[in-house]
Amino acid sequence: MDRIYGKHPSEKLDSQIMKPSLTRRDFLKFSGLLSLSAALPQYITSPSIPPGSSQSDNILIIVFDAWSATNTSLYDYPRLTTPNLERLARRAVVYHNNYASGNFTTTGTASLLTGTLPWTHRALELSETVDHAQAQNNIFRAFRAYHRMAYTHNPVADILLNQFFNAIDDYIPWTSLYQESDYLINSLFRADPDIAPLSWSRIIKGLDGYSYSLYLSQLYGYIKRMRAVQMEDIAQFFPRGLPNHDDYTYFTLEHGIDWLANQLASAPQPFMGYYHFFPPHHPYNTRTEFYRRFYEDGYQPLQKPPHLFHGEKPIESITRERSWYDEYILYVDAEFARLYDSLEKSGILDNTWLVLTSDHGEMFERGIFGHTTQVLHQPVIKVPLLIFPPGGRDRVDVYESTSAIDLLPTLQHVTGQEIASWAEGAIMPPFASPTTFSDRDVYALHGDPGRDGRITKGTAMLVRDNFKLMWYFGYNQLGGEKDMLELYDLHADPQELKNLYPEQSALTAELLVDLKLKLTLADNAYTDTVSK
Ligand SMILES: [Zn+2]
Repeated sequence: MDRIYGKHPSEKLDSQIMKPSLTRRDFLKFSGLLSLSAALPQYITSPSIPPGSSQSDNILIIVFDAWSATNTSLYDYPRLTTPNLERLARRAVVYHNNYASGNFTTTGTASLLTGTLPWTHRALELSETVDHAQAQNNIFRAFRAYHRMAYTHNPVADILLNQFFNAIDDYIPWTSLYQESDYLINSLFRADPDIAPLSWSRIIKGLDGYSYSLYLSQLYGYIKRMRAVQMEDIAQFFPRGLPNHDDYTYFTLEHGIDWLANQLASAPQPFMGYYHFFPPHHPYNTRTEFYRRFYEDGYQPLQKPPHLFHGEKPIESITRERSWYDEYILYVDAEFARLYDSLEKSGILDNTWLVLTSDHGEMFERGIFGHTTQVLHQPVIKVPLLIFPPGGRDRVDVYESTSAIDLLPTLQHVTGQEIASWAEGAIMPPFASPTTFSDRDVYALHGDPGRDGRITKGTAMLVRDNFKLMWYFGYNQLGGEKDMLELYDLHADPQELKNLYPEQSALTAELLVDLKLKLTLADNAYTDTVSK
């Protein structure tokens, strides 16, 4: 029988909490990792090296960008967007209430990579790095005894990987897996990676009105025509256009997955790999067999009133984008499954902790499209998280609220490492006791620092038990009012339809005081360091 941790939304499942059914082999594999607290009380109080784990197990983190748990059928989305994941989840720990720490790439990825909250790492604006004083505090340094490898399709996430470059043994530039790859040029300019892409754009592509070299322009034109011919063959499989991130640099996930499987086959072990692919991030250019899969399928998304921070896109257009996004998730689902099957076949999964997650979600409601938004509603902040233990055979369902910052300490714990002193998250169930985990808060932030470095404008989120508070502050749109508050009971109202504030003013005040205190302390600590 599957195991369940935390409260499932339907009450009948509460009685099933903590009923492990393990084969002897599974027990040997997991004992101590799962919170069999009665059998192993000393482990719960002192989470040192879990019995049964091996320090030689690999770590493999796969991130798909902008993937909302809300649109994932594994998490009960009505459209069947993840049929493969549902099959594979039989061998995984499935986290049902997992939160990104921010609602876009920079903040979300920085929390995943540092195990710290946004107001600590301070990567708050697009394309920013982590606060330099804390640049040593990253997951690569946390696994210093491992062969550390990293790649991302996303140039914004690559800025962070670049910042941690010295702690990565095998860093692959983001352009490497693009069809129109600037990798060669980046290699030539490797001494100055920051300006290389800019120079390439200006000199060779003639962007920004610059055209420094006729010869190089002609060469570039030739290479481009050659690639166009090669890409015609591939393009027929992508009716909405090839997957890309900016209309002129193309990639396919197939290529990325094949490359990764190859890379892992020859990687020194134990390895710690972080691979961050762009889909299902917009544009949602899915593959032929998923194209129009959800066209006029009868699914009617719940209509929610426009938010104060709604955008300009008409509702019909947002609804169409949702279908395209859902079709793009099918592509991610299929390619992840292909990777999984390949790694299983090659035996890598026998001694690898495989993690599947995202940096933030995506939104198609309240008049808001995408993830460039001030809100922290569930679609843009709740993301999938699955952990496949080495040789996993059982499914475990965890309903506790978990956070991106919990990943780092959890992975350190299951591989028998000391937990990094800077880590702000906790070891997640079932690897730590659900009882020690249950009374903690989960935070997220969309923040905008003012001139003195303090976060004077933004949206902060606190989830405690079944309540979620969103506090909006400093925005011009709030007019005379300085703050705006939204409070939801996520168990009774998972769609966040009924704002309980001001009705529940006492509870709101209690949560708000704690949230403000947390932010103030972080701001104080940050401005103290900066002024020194
Ligand atoms: Zn992202």
